Amino acid sequence: MDEFGIIAKYFAPLAGEGAFGLTDDAALLKSRPGQELVITTDSIAEGVDFFGFDPPHTIAQKALRVNLSDLAAKGAEPAFYLLNLTLPATVTPDWLAGFADGLARDQKQFGISLLGGDTSATDGPLSVAVTAFGFVPEGGMVKRSGARIGDDVYVTGSIGDSGGGLAIFRREIHTLGDDERDALIARYRVPEPPLEFSALLRDIAHASVDVSDGLIADLGHIARASSVRIVVEGESVPLSPPLLKLWGESAVKRAVTAGDDYQVAFTGPPGLEGSFTRIGQVVAGEGVAMTLKGGEIQLPKAGYRHF
Ligand code: ADP
Ligand code: MG
Repeated sequence: MDEFGIIAKYFAPLAGEGAFGLTDDAALLKSRPGQELVITTDSIAEGVDFFGFDPPHTIAQKALRVNLSDLAAKGAEPAFYLLNLTLPATVTPDWLAGFADGLARDQKQFGISLLGGDTSATDGPLSVAVTAFGFVPEGGMVKRSGARIGDDVYVTGSIGDSGGGLAIFRREIHTLGDDERDALIARYRVPEPPLEFSALLRDIAHASVDVSDGLIADLGHIARASSVRIVVEGESVPLSPPLLKLWGESAVKRAVTAGDDYQVAFTGPPGLEGSFTRIGQVVAGEGVAMTLKGGEIQLPKAGYRHF
């Protein structure tokens, strides 16, 4: 099957309004009065962000969701996406069907549709690039730059599970039961971006970031953009039971630099715990520090870096 056959068979059924069934050169986006578009892109590559043996539907879901977490962090409601595929020439119809099924499931879950993309072949590894579009009311996007001295720092979900899943794939020795192991691997393969909080974040968050490279590294982006210092209280970082079992004593230190969480970290006024976990505070100064048992600790690295 050539690229046009692939597009027509697997991707045209996913096309949304304005995409012309993926039969034109471009899509047409209707603007919405009183709203602004938030646009973000992220790509994932075989051997870096997923394994070639991962199920195709989870590869598709990860490609989408690493973008949806950016929209969640910015307070946006997801609407559309573009999909750029670089496929090994050996890709099979079964693989493509599974991949398209993963997209279809997430389109339904998150209320998004496909606007277009590009498809090309490669001798190298598979990569999937998504560009996602979401709407916010005018002026509503939550930036990295709004943190204020005196804010508390919060995070959604739990941190480090995905890193735990990756460690298991890398054959780290463990005593987890099958369910515990599978829960961590599931978080590595299919992130759970906290889109249910998009609208609320617009109202309460002063600054926000999605946690992709590691909690400490990503809070560093807020600290820099806002010209403040962030102090994370290690004991407060939310860790799941299987992760605690996997990493024991070193769980916090590893979790806050592991990356691939796709949760949202933000700053805002005190008193927001409940839906979120309060993990620290914003003070005068620069950079990010973490305390454990009252003392500042040194971390070997803040997060994942590609280069
Ligand atoms: P061009 O010749 O301009 O590169 P293409 O033949 O690549 O155009 O694309 C034809 C149509 O199919 C366009 O609407 C494009 O957006 C869509 N398309 C191509 N690849 C994909 C893909 N992987 N996912 C979704 N839409 C795609
Ligand atoms: Mg093209």
